[in-house]
Amino acid sequence: MILFRTPLFVAATALAASTLFASCETKPATASEAGSPTAEALAADSAGPAVTSGTAATAEAEANAAPAPDPTTIPAGKVGDAASITARPQVPILCYHQIRDWRAKDSKTAKDYIVPVQAFKNQMKMLADSGYHTILPDQLYAYLTTGAKLPSKPIMLTFDDTDLDQFTVARPTLDKYGYKAVYFVMTVSLGRPNYMSKAQVKQLSDEGNVIGSHTWDHHNVKKYQGQDWVTQIDKPTKTLEEITGKKINYFAFPFGLWNQQAFPELKKRGFVAAFVLAEKRDPIDPLFTIRRIIASGYWSPRTLHNSIVQSF
Ligand SMILES: [Zn+2]
Repeated sequence: MILFRTPLFVAATALAASTLFASCETKPATASEAGSPTAEALAADSAGPAVTSGTAATAEAEANAAPAPDPTTIPAGKVGDAASITARPQVPILCYHQIRDWRAKDSKTAKDYIVPVQAFKNQMKMLADSGYHTILPDQLYAYLTTGAKLPSKPIMLTFDDTDLDQFTVARPTLDKYGYKAVYFVMTVSLGRPNYMSKAQVKQLSDEGNVIGSHTWDHHNVKKYQGQDWVTQIDKPTKTLEEITGKKINYFAFPFGLWNQQAFPELKKRGFVAAFVLAEKRDPIDPLFTIRRIIASGYWSPRTLHNSIVQSF
């Protein structure tokens, strides 16, 4: 995979690449590789919600002035209904799994979920050069429910499944740009080889990232009965709260698989929002079906950018 080409080539291919639709269901489409885009080319696009009022600088200053409120402190009466939540422009949310170089035995499909180290670094550099600001779930919740302002070009980065390279590779790369992220941890893996330890998860939390729940061992939520809710949700969430010393408010469905019966179960356990993959949101409970796209290992920065613009 060639990641860097001349600016002239990029300019010539940018138009062609921008017309491709890169959908991202469980298997992201592989769009054309157009190389690393220039910041100028990307700045011309406007992805994500527009800043609602005032100048971008003013809105950003306001958005950054105070931390987003704890979602549980927002009075129910101030939370918009499903229609108003669904009507707001979506914030792009990227979902990553492993960040490591491909191995000979990796299948073609697996490579959609394994982003090579340099490709990941190029993707983060593209986001930074394009002016994206990472936001965290409390900011997203306040925006969706009350219309709270966000920084310009907001984006959320999420990492699933507790892979160690999220700590050793993604974390230092994000640090370089002042980016924060959400780590959806499945607790069965904690401390196992090639997975993060409890101490590493605590460090991520202490450094201002958000830890979310991603079940005990990644079983499909649609099949839970009785005790499964204790094993897959109650106990792992308690473990994460003990590790971080913080309340765990956000959940990501394994495989992005969900059903409406799961929402009341998650709500009564204190979750305020849950994340799925690229399918449509539930019109009645959009906060429990917040969309993400999987950033494929095949994607150049340009392809990723096109997907961000087209998928949200
Ligand atoms: Zn997962």
